Amino acid sequence: MRVMVLGGDGFCGWPSALHLSAHGHEVTIVDSLVRRRIDEELGVRSLTPIASTTERLRAWREVTGEGIGFVELDVARDYERLVGLLADLRPDAVVHFAEQRSAPFSMKSPRHKRYTVDNNINATHNLLAAMTEVGRDTHLVHLGTMGVYGYDSIPLDLPEGYLTVNYPDRHGDVHSAEVLYPTRPGSVYHLTKSLDQLLFQFYAQNDGVRVTDLHQGIVWGTQTEETARDPRLVNRFDYDGDYGTVLNRFVVEAAVGHPLTVHGTGGQTRAFISIRDSVRCVRLAVESGGRVSGRVRVMNQMTEVHRVIDLARMIQAETGAGIDLVDNPRAEADQNELQVRNDQLLGLGLEPTLLSTALLKDAVEVAHKHIDRVDPARIPCTSYWNRRRRSVSAVAA
Ligand code: NAD
Repeated sequence: MRVMVLGGDGFCGWPSALHLSAHGHEVTIVDSLVRRRIDEELGVRSLTPIASTTERLRAWREVTGEGIGFVELDVARDYERLVGLLADLRPDAVVHFAEQRSAPFSMKSPRHKRYTVDNNINATHNLLAAMTEVGRDTHLVHLGTMGVYGYDSIPLDLPEGYLTVNYPDRHGDVHSAEVLYPTRPGSVYHLTKSLDQLLFQFYAQNDGVRVTDLHQGIVWGTQTEETARDPRLVNRFDYDGDYGTVLNRFVVEAAVGHPLTVHGTGGQTRAFISIRDSVRCVRLAVESGGRVSGRVRVMNQMTEVHRVIDLARMIQAETGAGIDLVDNPRAEADQNELQVRNDQLLGLGLEPTLLSTALLKDAVEVAHKHIDRVDPARIPCTSYWNRRRRSVSAVAA
């Protein structure tokens, strides 16, 4: 298949592009490289030394003989070029990773909130409008997040995108309807992902665009089979307070002898997936096509759930690191229960790579290897949007 990977220079996009190429697909990466500029704005760098996009692609050609195309383009701003590209390349599928994906970054200031909304909503809407304008039956695979469901403790296993509700009509007869699961975004970033869902619903219903929305859990790990083939193909590894996701941040903290910073009580239960499974899920979604049915196919892309404190204890057991319970910067429940259905990806053949001490050990070794690149001052999360609770504790003090 011909596949365009928007955001294909990022943490999930790069290994997914390689994985698709390794499985015989003709891949073109489209990326504005804004993520590399955000590193400069924040004064941080990936734990792993990532090569330039050109060098990465040269390495892939040398190692495999396969070419991957690259177009530098801002999907949120350059609509006309996007239309031209879709018309020229005529992709069978477009995988859309091209969004600002950090919740703390989205909450730093009004400027960051506005940037996140502007970038993410325009990127998604430009893509949908451009696909409709070009008029080919291209399949859109979007990377969404489990975070749109919110983290209330609910007495059901989270369904895949839709909820069946029963309601009485004006005569008292009970009817049933399927609705998008009500969203409870916990940050402006999550809000954009919730709004994305409405854009997809509209274009699927109105224009018959084939859409698969993957509600992904928190990704852990760095390398995949493909990125490990040459040092120039190494994937990025974010450990800083804005972009470092919880497990990867713990791994780096353990490597530098920093206590593991658990937000709040650590009672938050979250869904996780390894980067190795993430790239497989993207390929399974692309290859399985989706239907033209006026309905978005939503799949929960996660393989296991863990309480944050349990993850910290696993790493502590492996490394001897201390645990520090710090104020939670996020406005979220101290603890929650979570069970999630992921039948669709399992049905497509996903065989989950579950967290194990061996894998954690590997991850800590990667962190040790690049320990000289770690800036411990960048580890704590300095974005803080739990203002209500902070003012209550300030009054109490
Ligand atoms: P990332 O920031 O590493 O990569 C995003 C890429 O998109 C970057 O290369 C960036 O330059 C590019 N980009 C952003 N805006 C663009 C635009 N307007 N035009 C062109 N390129 C643009 O993020 P990631 O971790 O790879 O996440 C990718 C997607 O997966 C995101 O949409 C995110 O919501 C979703 N996701 C990630 C995780 C995770 O744990 N990393 C979890 C759940 C969902």
